[in-house]
Amino acid sequence: MNDITKNLPGLYIHIPFCVSKCPYCNFYSITDQSALPAWIDALRLEMTIYADEFDTFDTIYLGGGTPSTLSPKALSSIIDDLYRTFSMADNGEFTMEANPGDMNDDVLSFIRDTPINRVNLGVQSFDDDILAYLGRRHDSKKARQALSLLRKKGGAHIGIDLIYGVPAQSMESWMTTLEEALRYKPEHLSCYELTVETDTPLGQRLGSRSEELVGEEQAYSFFMTTSERLEEAGYIHYEVSNFALREELRSRHNMKYWNHTPYLGLGPSAHSLKGNRRWWNFSSLERYIDDLRQNLLPVEDSETLDEEDLRLERIFLGLRTKEGIDGNEFSSFDPVQTGLLRQCMADGLLERRDNRIIPTRRGLALADQLAAAL
Ligand code: SF4
Repeated sequence: MNDITKNLPGLYIHIPFCVSKCPYCNFYSITDQSALPAWIDALRLEMTIYADEFDTFDTIYLGGGTPSTLSPKALSSIIDDLYRTFSMADNGEFTMEANPGDMNDDVLSFIRDTPINRVNLGVQSFDDDILAYLGRRHDSKKARQALSLLRKKGGAHIGIDLIYGVPAQSMESWMTTLEEALRYKPEHLSCYELTVETDTPLGQRLGSRSEELVGEEQAYSFFMTTSERLEEAGYIHYEVSNFALREELRSRHNMKYWNHTPYLGLGPSAHSLKGNRRWWNFSSLERYIDDLRQNLLPVEDSETLDEEDLRLERIFLGLRTKEGIDGNEFSSFDPVQTGLLRQCMADGLLERRDNRIIPTRRGLALADQLAAAL
């Protein structure tokens, strides 16, 4: 395991509020903030219940939902509760997701005055037609203003989140977005392919008109062009969708998810992992608040992973990162899996480096298919 991914657990807080709902999104969030004070009280109780089991973290991630929807006062009160209940290791990574539409002087001075050292801005595109298709509440002008302000006054590393593979998006439009993002020299870039889930408003709107979606070949071409351009610009393509300007700027928090380091998730719908147990909260703010008022954990369900589950997950997750798979896993493969892996190496999808099996760029592009075949 790399130095950057220490064994200390990570802490995730799911902030379940958004100003409006994007039609492609299937994360849990609501637009009505009337329960905000009750949610903050419930969150404080949830922290207290876990205080004995988890005490020190080296990453904190405020996600959602849209954390920047909350006022600096509400966010400060959550951060105060966090630091009163848990400890943060020296040089910890503290990330907050933000919407470009929320960036103003108050939010920026709040960021500067807190331990937040990474801001992930949900830019998604610099093309106003694409932003409108995605139902985003900001436009490209707002995204530019937010990035300039953040760079000038935020005092935190910048991550830019982008989406490609939107129906009717041309390669030219996507590359213009990518080039514009590069002008801000973000320390981190996440480039996600749009996935349309059937239970989202966009999925329902498209219905059976799947021909409007980007096909496999086109998605592959978006992926390869993105990876080539960003590596040429000096970024490390360290996970299927993630790029960092330097090794130490990779998302230490997300890497915990990929290498089974424990993490605690607080808030509605948040997931946690400790040892071989994974559990997750109800995706309902009402249920979350009610349970905690009765001093109950709002856990909807849990699963215990046996050695085989963990091994398969390590392989699945490893094939999605440049850390790859430990060569010792190789010896536990059955003959069919071993044959398939050898074929992938012969086809240039995987390569052996020291005692690890690492996906190449083409291997990363096909990581999901590769994992499904194994
Ligand atoms: S702002 Fe983010 S979390 Fe909220 S609905 Fe849109 S994509 Fe989902």
